[in-house]
Amino acid sequence: MKFGIIGLGYVGLATLCGLAKAGHHVIGVEADEEKLRLLMSGHPPFHEPGMAEVLQEHADQITLTSRIADTEQVDYLILAVGTPSKSDGSCDLSYIEAVLSELNTKHKIVIRSSVPPGTTDLLNIMYPSHTFAIVPEFLQEGRALADVMKPHRVVIGCVNLEVAEDLAGIYGRLGVPLICTTPINAELIKYASNAFLATKISFMNDLSRLADQAGADISTIADGMGLDPRIGRSFLNAGIGYGGSCFPKDMNALLHVASENEIDLRVIRAATKVNETQIEYVLSKLNVEPNMRVAILGLAFKPGTDDMRDAPSILLAHHMVARNVDVIGYDPIATWDYPQATTVEEALKGADYAILVTEWDEIVNLAPDAFNGMRQRRLIDARNAWKFARDPGDVSYEGIGRMQRP
Ligand code: NAD
Repeated sequence: MKFGIIGLGYVGLATLCGLAKAGHHVIGVEADEEKLRLLMSGHPPFHEPGMAEVLQEHADQITLTSRIADTEQVDYLILAVGTPSKSDGSCDLSYIEAVLSELNTKHKIVIRSSVPPGTTDLLNIMYPSHTFAIVPEFLQEGRALADVMKPHRVVIGCVNLEVAEDLAGIYGRLGVPLICTTPINAELIKYASNAFLATKISFMNDLSRLADQAGADISTIADGMGLDPRIGRSFLNAGIGYGGSCFPKDMNALLHVASENEIDLRVIRAATKVNETQIEYVLSKLNVEPNMRVAILGLAFKPGTDDMRDAPSILLAHHMVARNVDVIGYDPIATWDYPQATTVEEALKGADYAILVTEWDEIVNLAPDAFNGMRQRRLIDARNAWKFARDPGDVSYEGIGRMQRP
């Protein structure tokens, strides 16, 4: 079959690679000239394992272009453009609308972008010449291609029986659980999944404040809770809060849609509030003075990616700079606009604080003597990830919700 994919970001490029690996012909459309140039030379514009190899090995099945019109002959057109937050928190659908306004032929369109409940039904009414289905994407950055090849589930939201059956046949080959449902259910499964994971994180962050006060260890609590299969250990790590391009914006979009429906989603609102204040909670553990130097270790919003969208490190740096503190960052692959060292040692040299913000292996596994070059050896573990937390030698260590050391 022949597929067209509009938008070759994390989702679009992973989808393109997955379809090419499955033997299909794919036309990928990307509007950003620099990204397209990199892709055409065989290089993904971001760090994702396995994609460069697929682009190379399956080059004869892949066409890369900037023109949407080149997708006229495809069997399915997949939309993977961004759906960022507007200033009022609602979901900005303008990238999707811009693509639709350029289409001149009838298409079967599969939306893989995350959109608010009701969007696909509305598009079916607004653009009757096309048939829309939504297949929300659940991939995690850093393992995007693996997730596309073997997702935990595929959710197909479609009211057109023929298209739904066709999509079930295509995705059925992945051999994973398949849910065929209405578009509004599919859209909400995606938003609810992200909101639930984000709420798990906020639940632990909220509790971490009590753990600090009461002298408990939130990591041990998470381990104990996580052994219950009804709870599960994932997303129970207290820390600096969630960031990234999905959780904050999808939580905001969900709250916005709810308020339009005159519903107050109190749990989700509270989870958002906890997240917004968690960075202040981390900051309250530092006693910074002007001209101090703070090393921020790990910049990406999570390990395994170079994605800096809504990364907590940026907000943290922003707060520090506002207090006249010198900030220097280190990350194995991500970059930012603040000063950045090329090694951990360089970042730590002369620093008054080291803050672990992204739990890359390299940073988590630092030996206590790696901090010898610091002016003051004060460590803030904003991910509760440093292994030596319980035996840090003569460094001062403070985690989140695990303040009391034996
Ligand atoms: P992204 O910003 O990395 O990629 C979007 C791409 O679309 C960009 O490269 C942009 O240049 C391109 N684009 C925009 N308009 C275009 C047009 N008219 N023609 C051609 N290209 C165009 O975004 P992403 O992270 O891949 O996310 C895409 C969607 O998938 C969002 O709705 C997001 O919420 C959802 N999603 C993302 C993830 C994730 O982990 N990143 C996971 C699941 C779902």
